[in-house]
Amino acid sequence: MICYRAPLVVPVSRAPIRDGAVLAANGQIMALGSFSSLRGQGSRVVDLEDSIITPALINCHSHLELSHLAELGRENYGADNDITLWIRALLAARGKEVDGEIIKAAVDLALIRLRAGGVVLTADIGNIKSGRRRAAKLPEEMFFMELLGFSPKTADEALRRLKACNTACAAHAPYSTHPRLIQAVKARADARRDIFPIHTAESAAEIDFLASGGGPLRPFLVERLGRLDFFTPPSCGAVEYLERLRVLDNQTMCVHCVHISETEVEILARRAAQVCLCPGSNRCLGPGRAPAALLLKHGLRPCLGTDSLASNPSLDLWREMRLLQEDNPALAPEEIFKMATINGAMALGRGEFGSLEPRKDARMLAVRYEQLPEDVFSFLVSGKHQTAWLEDSNGS
Ligand SMILES: [Zn+2]
Repeated sequence: MICYRAPLVVPVSRAPIRDGAVLAANGQIMALGSFSSLRGQGSRVVDLEDSIITPALINCHSHLELSHLAELGRENYGADNDITLWIRALLAARGKEVDGEIIKAAVDLALIRLRAGGVVLTADIGNIKSGRRRAAKLPEEMFFMELLGFSPKTADEALRRLKACNTACAAHAPYSTHPRLIQAVKARADARRDIFPIHTAESAAEIDFLASGGGPLRPFLVERLGRLDFFTPPSCGAVEYLERLRVLDNQTMCVHCVHISETEVEILARRAAQVCLCPGSNRCLGPGRAPAALLLKHGLRPCLGTDSLASNPSLDLWREMRLLQEDNPALAPEEIFKMATINGAMALGRGEFGSLEPRKDARMLAVRYEQLPEDVFSFLVSGKHQTAWLEDSNGS
């Protein structure tokens, strides 16, 4: 049993512990508390003199298979941009033939970066489940095969793929996925007890399209599908639409939630739905900012995701925390740190992560400081620090 001692231990599920210690054995936390109360237990003491011990981070939304398209994510699309410009650029880039080895190498590099940033678990959404090499054991991945198809014909094809699929699945978005397909993916997720992720209310264009069938998505979809006469706009917001489809509950993860009304926040709260915020991606593509304070006010516990390198220059979850704080200066830094840890673990149904508690996973981080911060959560969320995995705790 190893005793990790640090001037500050941040369990997340309870108040920070000064001169704290965490006892761990066989990858599991055995006990934690003040060092004086645990002194003498454990065969070895690892003394972290200038560090804060925290849980590892959870990235609740990524698309690792787009990692080779990082040049798209480095562009600044400008605020309030028409999101179809980026979608077109993405589809054009995905349409080009790329050596599979390049895609795999980019995924490996992304995993290494996630691990270097202290991520223990990532939810990864993709259209192809390729035979991936793993460059590292961490982060653990929860893979979701993404299905979309907006016309009855393409939805039927996707339904056939859904039947043949042997992994968890996600639906892409309300404007790209036929309502029948959204409901089928959700029903299958329920039967398998999987989380059901769906991009929700990301852009103004999505809301325009659902409200009236107009906006920039109309010409884009007509161009791709030839016709749109099969679609009757529901004349409501994206959350309200998913509520009408009866697919919202605590296993549904609505990703982005930038353009939602307070009534829709109330719907999400009533259904105890999961909300994943992606501030870095939202900055890059410019659709706006999610109403984080309003979500918290209504009792929701948002989690955080980076989205892909095709819509975000970085997969650093510490940066996501910093951006969210910048976007919402009044938000308590502790709430933001919870989003990257315990909220993410709970949203993905992986309660063994996200906080430091007996019997939980012992893969923990040491966050270094130059001066012991007075406000530890402000310091953590600032991202202005070096982070390392605790010796022997990262599963490597
Ligand atoms: Zn996404």
